[in-house]
Amino acid sequence: MQTIDALVAAQGDLRGRRVLVRSDLNVPLSDGRITDDGRVRASLPTWQRLLDAGARVVVVAHLGRPKGAPEARYSLAPVVERVRELLPSTTVRSADTTVGGSAQEAADALGDGELLLVENLRFNAGETSKDDAERAAFASELAALVGGPEQGLFVSDGFGVVHRKQASVYDVAQLLPHAGGGLVEAETSVLQRLTTDPARPYAVVLGGAKVSDKLAVIENLLGTADRLLVGGGMVFTFLAAQGHEVGTSLLEADQVETVRGYLATAAERGVEVVLPVDVIAATAFSADAEHEVVAADAIPADRMGLDIGPESSKLFAEKLADTRTVFWNGPMGAFEMAPYAEGTRELAKALAEVTRAGGLTVVGGGDSAAAVRSLGFADSDFGHISTGGGASLEYLEGKTLPGLSVLA
Ligand code: ADP
Ligand code: MG
Repeated sequence: MQTIDALVAAQGDLRGRRVLVRSDLNVPLSDGRITDDGRVRASLPTWQRLLDAGARVVVVAHLGRPKGAPEARYSLAPVVERVRELLPSTTVRSADTTVGGSAQEAADALGDGELLLVENLRFNAGETSKDDAERAAFASELAALVGGPEQGLFVSDGFGVVHRKQASVYDVAQLLPHAGGGLVEAETSVLQRLTTDPARPYAVVLGGAKVSDKLAVIENLLGTADRLLVGGGMVFTFLAAQGHEVGTSLLEADQVETVRGYLATAAERGVEVVLPVDVIAATAFSADAEHEVVAADAIPADRMGLDIGPESSKLFAEKLADTRTVFWNGPMGAFEMAPYAEGTRELAKALAEVTRAGGLTVVGGGDSAAAVRSLGFADSDFGHISTGGGASLEYLEGKTLPGLSVLA
């Protein structure tokens, strides 16, 4: 992968040159306000590097999951505002289209050392289209923002999307001279340390809600990790695989057999699988629902598990205490609601201890990163907070990520 430094060195001065930068600015919003600006801040160094070299920077990004057409609630306007606050001495321009029209006009008018953030990529059907020609056509329009193949350059820095074969990630890299940005470089170098000879014991903690997405990684992890700790919504598929009642908890019934297989493989390979021994069982998915701590093998049929219980937190902390490498993806509970945030808070504390003891701790996933920040942890409590959940999991699975292979 070519680095920005190599690109800058190869191109010489970037004054007068336009660079298209794909960043991941998919931040969580509540009532139009950004609740965690981690992805914006993580994107700044790459932009700064290019601006310092005199480049005219055109940033493209997505927000949420609009369906290929403009939708006001997915506008990047709140992000533009935040970028202006974070870069007070840079001229930050915006446009109300992604390509063509006002976006193209603004891109053509950029001065050296100025930055333009165009509207949400996913307001355009071509961005995520499964049709190669439709994606390629949109990629050409993106390339036109920076003067096309003759003049434009491309820097891929949206680590959170490198596992997607999308126009702004994959196709545009085939049109323009390109490099991997600083964030993509940093993220991949940390993940590489997890896949090649991690310091042991190496524990992986999985939780969250995207169960079927995440089960796939387990197969590969059973070959590298020493311990697998499971919490969050995923755990109920494991409890069901052990034959326990899980009430109305999140359950992927069609994955129970697969999970049984994982448990058997883990036993064969000597990988320790650690499951919660107690859970917070609530009458509904709501902060003010009645809830209580119950044993993990005794969840009442009319209750749903929304967090791991206090005994489980203690057990998980013990199982992490001597580890030297930890990868954590997915909150232990529905942490957005205070009664179900303790499991995630206690787990974050246990990781912070490992960090202090000199171990490498990596937190991956949009919600996991937002969780540790909203619970008051500092970025320095962890070795690395990854901006990409799905991307980091697929990397750990050993999959080829289209957005990385296209940069090779
Ligand atoms: P990440 O973005 O870190 O990869 P996910 O998107 O997979 O994580 O999952 C995050 C979501 O999982 C959070 O919104 C949280 O409320 C939810 N969650 C965690 N535990 C449970 C549970 N037991 N039941 C339902 N939802 C849960
Ligand atoms: Mg998520």
